[in-house]
Amino acid sequence: MKIGILSRNRKLYSTAKLVAAAEERGHEVRVINPVRCYMNIASFNPGIHYDGKQLTGFDAIIPRIGASITFYGTAVVRQFEMMGVFSLNESVAISRSRDKLRSLQLLSRKGIGLPVTGFASSPADTEDLLDLVGGAPVVVKLLEGTQGKGIVLAETRKAAESVVEAFRNLDANFLVQEFIKEAGGADIRCLVIGEKVVAAMKRQAQQGEFRSNLHRGGSAKVIKITPEERSTATRAARIMGLRVAGVDILRSNHGPVVMEVNSSPGLEGIEQATGKDVASMIIEYIEKNGKAGRTRTRGSG
Ligand code: ADP
Ligand code: MG
Repeated sequence: MKIGILSRNRKLYSTAKLVAAAEERGHEVRVINPVRCYMNIASFNPGIHYDGKQLTGFDAIIPRIGASITFYGTAVVRQFEMMGVFSLNESVAISRSRDKLRSLQLLSRKGIGLPVTGFASSPADTEDLLDLVGGAPVVVKLLEGTQGKGIVLAETRKAAESVVEAFRNLDANFLVQEFIKEAGGADIRCLVIGEKVVAAMKRQAQQGEFRSNLHRGGSAKVIKITPEERSTATRAARIMGLRVAGVDILRSNHGPVVMEVNSSPGLEGIEQATGKDVASMIIEYIEKNGKAGRTRTRGSG
């Protein structure tokens, strides 16, 4: 197959690992920088240009779209979909997963366990909003934060009010969430491919830190998850419309709760913690499912 990997940097662990896995399995691979793609939208024959040439003949693409280029990156993915190229994760699903509020609404509609979460726009309702999620301590999150940036634990009501006020003054969209203290600074990352959790790791935050992101100095080790956690993770990925996803779960007193669903999960941490070759499993999945024209949305939505 001819596989394109949409990534801005071929040296990133995940990109390099996917290239190696695809080549090892006999495929032709090309790393495509999405911000270097330009498109002819008006054409009857939708196309993508790159460095003065048209990109042709791709059977499948693997989007690895960084959070800072979601808007343009998903437009490029959509263009590939319009050309009938199979995208491992489709543009609509990627956009959905990047918006924490939209994601939580979709998951809650299907009965997935979630931390109690509130959202409000008007400053007049801060008091009531904090009551709604059970009062302090609360976690305040920017809607489009990533890697643990833009997330604050407010331990007292006064602190929560100040953080909410500060975010509002910056015109930022945020949500307020029950703090799952009993998780003890740990969460579970489930790597889902298709309908299966193929690898799971427990990430533990550094001493004195509640965010377990590896980018924030968290440490990872392999973990055996419960059947309930397994089905929560696969259902969450399916609801988001993601074929490959990193589903983050907290162990709460009210069962497993989903914190977020990532559409470009990093491979380095999970491969090292579990010893699994996730990159090869992704390529294998594409071999089985990645037929041209298999795109569900065909670039719509
Ligand atoms: P990001 O997109 O920045 O990774 P997350 O929502 O995944 O944002 O939060 C980052 C980390 O903060 C999580 O991995 C988790 O360890 C911690 N965290 C987030 N929300 C909560 C919560 N409601 N209760 C306890 N810990 C949380
Ligand atoms: Mg996270």
